[in-house]
Amino acid sequence: MDSKVPENSEKDKISRRELLTLSWHGSDAPDGEAQGRVTLTGGRCTGCGLCTVDCSSGALSISSKETGDEFNLRFKANMCNACGRCVDACPEKCLSLERVPASGPADEVVLFGDTLVRCRQCGGVVGPRAMLDKVRATMLAAGQSGAQLELCPDCKARSQFNFNESPVRKR
Ligand code: SF4
Ligand code: SF4
Repeated sequence: MDSKVPENSEKDKISRRELLTLSWHGSDAPDGEAQGRVTLTGGRCTGCGLCTVDCSSGALSISSKETGDEFNLRFKANMCNACGRCVDACPEKCLSLERVPASGPADEVVLFGDTLVRCRQCGGVVGPRAMLDKVRATMLAAGQSGAQLELCPDCKARSQFNFNESPVRKR
């Protein structure tokens, strides 16, 4: 066993960042403090946002505007502590993480840009187009209709309620 990796009882007590540092020792790891650089590999991102939920440092975020249809997944390198949670959280396995010197770029970059779909009844936010397209394809493959996908949760619930109520009203 690698002597630099602690025994189980100690391993449970150290942070994921410390574990990653241990696994990165030697080779091309820079000296001193380091930060992470997250990049998108391939074109499979759906904009689901799960990586931002698991990113406790705020390095990954989603931005969209009150009006308009712009959707962006953003990354700020100088806030990234290279914990790797986003890589583990991504259901599409499309994120990569590398360790870079802490003096790396501070500017925010857009990792993924898409069109925001709005509810066709009330105009509320539904989600990024790529995510809806993926859900629709999955539903169609399972023989289900994706007809209500472009409704927000409130309008979807309302339309189902009205649908369930209509036979009663006809009596
Ligand atoms: S990178 Fe992965 S987890 Fe993050 S929004 Fe894209 S698909 Fe979702
Ligand atoms: S490696 Fe950690 S801190 Fe960096 S973007 Fe991913 S979840 Fe956030």
